[in-house]
Amino acid sequence: MKIEALDAFYLRMPEVKDIGDGSQDVLVMRVQAGGFVGWGECEASPLTTIAALIAPLSHSACHPIRSSIVGQELPGPDEMEAFHRRVRERSSDLLQTDHALSGIDIALWDLIGKVHGAPVWSFFGAKNHAKTAYASQLFGDTPSATYEDARSVPPEFRAAKFGWGPFGRAELADDREQLAAAREGVGPNRTLLIDTGCVFGHDVSRAAERIALLEEFHVGWWEEPFAAGALAEYSQLSKQTKTKLAGGEGAHTADQARHLIDYGGVGFIQVDAGRIGGITAARQVANYARQKNVQFVNHTFTSNLALSASLQPYADHPSGYAEVPLAASDLAIAIGGMPWVLDPDGGVSAPGNLGLGVTPEPLAISPYLQEVEIRWNGKTLWNSLDNKL
Ligand SMILES: [Mg+2]
Repeated sequence: MKIEALDAFYLRMPEVKDIGDGSQDVLVMRVQAGGFVGWGECEASPLTTIAALIAPLSHSACHPIRSSIVGQELPGPDEMEAFHRRVRERSSDLLQTDHALSGIDIALWDLIGKVHGAPVWSFFGAKNHAKTAYASQLFGDTPSATYEDARSVPPEFRAAKFGWGPFGRAELADDREQLAAAREGVGPNRTLLIDTGCVFGHDVSRAAERIALLEEFHVGWWEEPFAAGALAEYSQLSKQTKTKLAGGEGAHTADQARHLIDYGGVGFIQVDAGRIGGITAARQVANYARQKNVQFVNHTFTSNLALSASLQPYADHPSGYAEVPLAASDLAIAIGGMPWVLDPDGGVSAPGNLGLGVTPEPLAISPYLQEVEIRWNGKTLWNSLDNKL
């Protein structure tokens, strides 16, 4: 069965704000083979990624990514690693390759699941264990706003994460008030997780000033203290604090995530399947983390399509955490429907339906569809109107 089509749909909210919410626009990929359709979503800059799909050959390591997909034989589940490797090799000098491949790889797994009549996770050990869902949100501008947000975390969530915002940008005393507000709001019995959003850059001593605070408020993990590639700084901090470090959403390849485990000393590795190269690359990281006694955690902040993709790579891990976005944007709801209901004990697991179990409805997403045309020497390389929803 040949892959007959690869289409990319650029979807965008009417207004995109300069805030850390990656669900305001999105690139959705669709692949088709033998009458089956698979869907995937990239956590990537949409127009840049479309360019990587179609930019004409510039040399042998810069093939347009689409040329490695359309017309190829649809791989089986055991052939996906080789397929993935070949696409990366043919476009290894295109920096957007892993982001573009993420959405394509996810769509291909969805398609493979539908062709084989099975959910994607069933190819990875036939187990689908629920994970403890954590509510993910930003710190409020003030401690009282953080407190109100923490109090409003739905009771079924056993864990909540606060991140970014003013934390780490002001004085130590201000950070203490933020942490105290978050802890008081979620209560003593739920897990409190903190995401400092790379705020300390490469400054280990400023980060280390917060060690006692995070320990005092029993923080379950300390996410992204430093810039994504600051392995030495991660390593130094990890040796000074009892709070386990977490990171990995900035990893664009499985190798980068493995290095954060081996050289950064993280206790939790969080990769985004929509950015790291899809389910294939995320599964490589999940397997490696398990060998190294590091907990794999999904990173996802957009739709249920992305959430389902993010849960597949470690569905067979017997326990752990899962990020579940608390306030989906209208666009995220249009792509993947309303937020999922958690298990009574606060768990979330990958859907049991075929493929990824989340299929975008053309009618729901078409209002967000952007019209794009890319021309070169008078020739149209890409016209979104050619991609019929
Ligand atoms: Mg984060």
